[in-house]
Amino acid sequence: MAESDDLLAPYAMRLTASRGRHYAESDHPFRSLYQRDRERIVHSSAFRRMTGKTQVLVATLNDHHRTRLTHTLEVTQIARTVARRLRLNEDLVEVIALAHDIGHPPYGHAGEQALDDCLRDRGGFNHNLYGLRRVDLLEERYPEFPGLNLTFEVREAFVRHAGIVTPEFTTAGQPLLEGEVVDAVDSIAYDTHDLDDALGLEFITLADVEELDLVQSALAAVRSRHAALPPYALRIAMIRELLAIQVNGLLDETARRITANRIDSLAAVRSCQAELVGFAEPLALQKQQLEAFLRERVYRHPRVLQMTSNGNRVLKSLYGELVAHPHLLPERPLRRWAGSDTILTPVPLLPNRVRGSSLERVVTDYLAGMTDRFAQAEYQRLFSTSVDP
Ligand code: MG
Repeated sequence: MAESDDLLAPYAMRLTASRGRHYAESDHPFRSLYQRDRERIVHSSAFRRMTGKTQVLVATLNDHHRTRLTHTLEVTQIARTVARRLRLNEDLVEVIALAHDIGHPPYGHAGEQALDDCLRDRGGFNHNLYGLRRVDLLEERYPEFPGLNLTFEVREAFVRHAGIVTPEFTTAGQPLLEGEVVDAVDSIAYDTHDLDDALGLEFITLADVEELDLVQSALAAVRSRHAALPPYALRIAMIRELLAIQVNGLLDETARRITANRIDSLAAVRSCQAELVGFAEPLALQKQQLEAFLRERVYRHPRVLQMTSNGNRVLKSLYGELVAHPHLLPERPLRRWAGSDTILTPVPLLPNRVRGSSLERVVTDYLAGMTDRFAQAEYQRLFSTSVDP
């Protein structure tokens, strides 16, 4: 018997209310819809490749700071805590969190910008929409259907996160609280760990951030319990406190808004125009102040900019080379393009909706799926002056 909806709050997403999957499948004897979606995400190749993808600081810089995958795990565990406390659908929150960055290309936001530039005249590139394309089409794991055949609610979260509601999702109404929680927790996780990583790599010092309101509150809380701590212990305790302040703030304010807006059902969530998940005014402003600092001092740090320009060069060069010489593509991307081109043999197994992808889109799909390391190796292989293969 699949898990029931009994313990959920009235405003939580319920299994019985799911719009289900595009291709009909029979129920599993004891795993619920969202539990199966979670496992499909974890077993996907896009999920595994997040190990080798840059979050903000280049994945190969050292072994201590966050990668896309460890960021995802932090978001997932915090989001589950929030979901449990608010009695939201924890399984759904977990799968949305695990999937939320699956569409990120290599080299962090620099990679996304580079691919968006490449596709400027062809609809551009957005990592959330690519994430949806990835789970709908590009993952090849089941003979019965393309992609992972995820539930409507999990697929909807990609589109909501992008802020672009495509026609398929417009009838759903306002976003689910489960997806909104993951968005808010994503900001908690990256604001906190980007600060932690930048301190750890000595891009900045504790003295640089002591004036920030949020850091001051965190340090005051730590010092109220420990009169003096050595610098490393102080940093770790301060980071833990920063997380706690934000998570508690998110829980309190979201619970307040749910009550204030009389949200007593899923239908009320779907029709509520107000933003229900968020931070109250002082904390929201403090987070903005921290984010402005990170933009100025961390995301524009020379080491980060070096990675940005390197990633940009690697991806744009690979794009140009592969579009000019598609025979250099490996078999599967080549097959995808083949559906729309007569000089190559089309493979009948591919569904019609994959066919017709332009070469430019196929090359971008291929590049976006790469890890930083693989992109770098491909760049060296294609542009090395050595004649060795
Ligand atoms: Mg994220």
